[in-house]
Amino acid sequence: QPITTDMSTLTKEIEKFAKDKKLQIETLKVREEYRKEFMGNVSHELKTPLFTIQGYLLTLLDGAMDDKNIRKKYLQRAAKGVDRLIYIVKDLDMISKLEVGNLILEQEAFDIVELIQSVFELFEMKANKKNIVLTFDIPYEPIYVYADKERIQQCVANLVVNSIKYGKMDGTTEISIENLIKNKIIIRVTDNGEGIEQSNIRRLFERFYRVDKSGNRKEGGSGLGLSIVKHIIEAHKEKIYVESVFGVGSEFSFTLEKAAEDQILEAEEMYDDEI
Ligand code: ADP
Repeated sequence: QPITTDMSTLTKEIEKFAKDKKLQIETLKVREEYRKEFMGNVSHELKTPLFTIQGYLLTLLDGAMDDKNIRKKYLQRAAKGVDRLIYIVKDLDMISKLEVGNLILEQEAFDIVELIQSVFELFEMKANKKNIVLTFDIPYEPIYVYADKERIQQCVANLVVNSIKYGKMDGTTEISIENLIKNKIIIRVTDNGEGIEQSNIRRLFERFYRVDKSGNRKEGGSGLGLSIVKHIIEAHKEKIYVESVFGVGSEFSFTLEKAAEDQILEAEEMYDDEI
């Protein structure tokens, strides 16, 4: 049987093949850039605490060890550096899981009011150090949402920590919950801290992005906190917003779905079983 070759079809197919390949290569190039940037950022973030720890240990070995008071002080500082490393590595672990899409949400019905109260308790001491008041208009009854409790706790914690870190002395952090249309609520974390310039807001949720890039910034952090929050909220198919006025304060908010009656009942039954 003779082979009939329709030249124009063939040309079209070759062109399509070349276009696809070009696209593939471009995607790979972008990924490679992304990977390089990521590695650069990771090593940069790890370097600071590592050098700090090394500095203290070397000074101790150099003779500072003989003085009991200095010994304790330097060991405490080195231990603080280790804490920081652990914190960064945990954040990195979380972000890689989130980005690869490996995070499986474990959704259940739980009371968000109780969760917020527990986060406030956790950070009361930190707030006290800057004389920041944590306020939460507690609704009279529980508000059940359907979400991954542990992850949402992390989101609230990251936002509260930021509001304290970037908050002013004697300032306030306020959390409020409001009903939205249908079965949604919105949780707002508002501070009257340093605020964020408009030009920085766009990049705020990028990983490793920090407004103050100087090495001597007073607040520690990995620049991963908000990026983790955004990933978690988006994994829930919910929305996150930020509004900020430089020098006045910021408000971070996100939506959550209210739990349905049967989900609440199920959660209560499980709770009863545990008891
Ligand atoms: P980190 O706090 O570790 O730097 P985040 O991802 O949590 O990282 O935040 C990124 C940046 O956004 C911070 O470095 C800070 O500049 C800015 N930022 C976050 N929250 C606030 C806030 N409540 N007020 C002012 N700036 C903030």
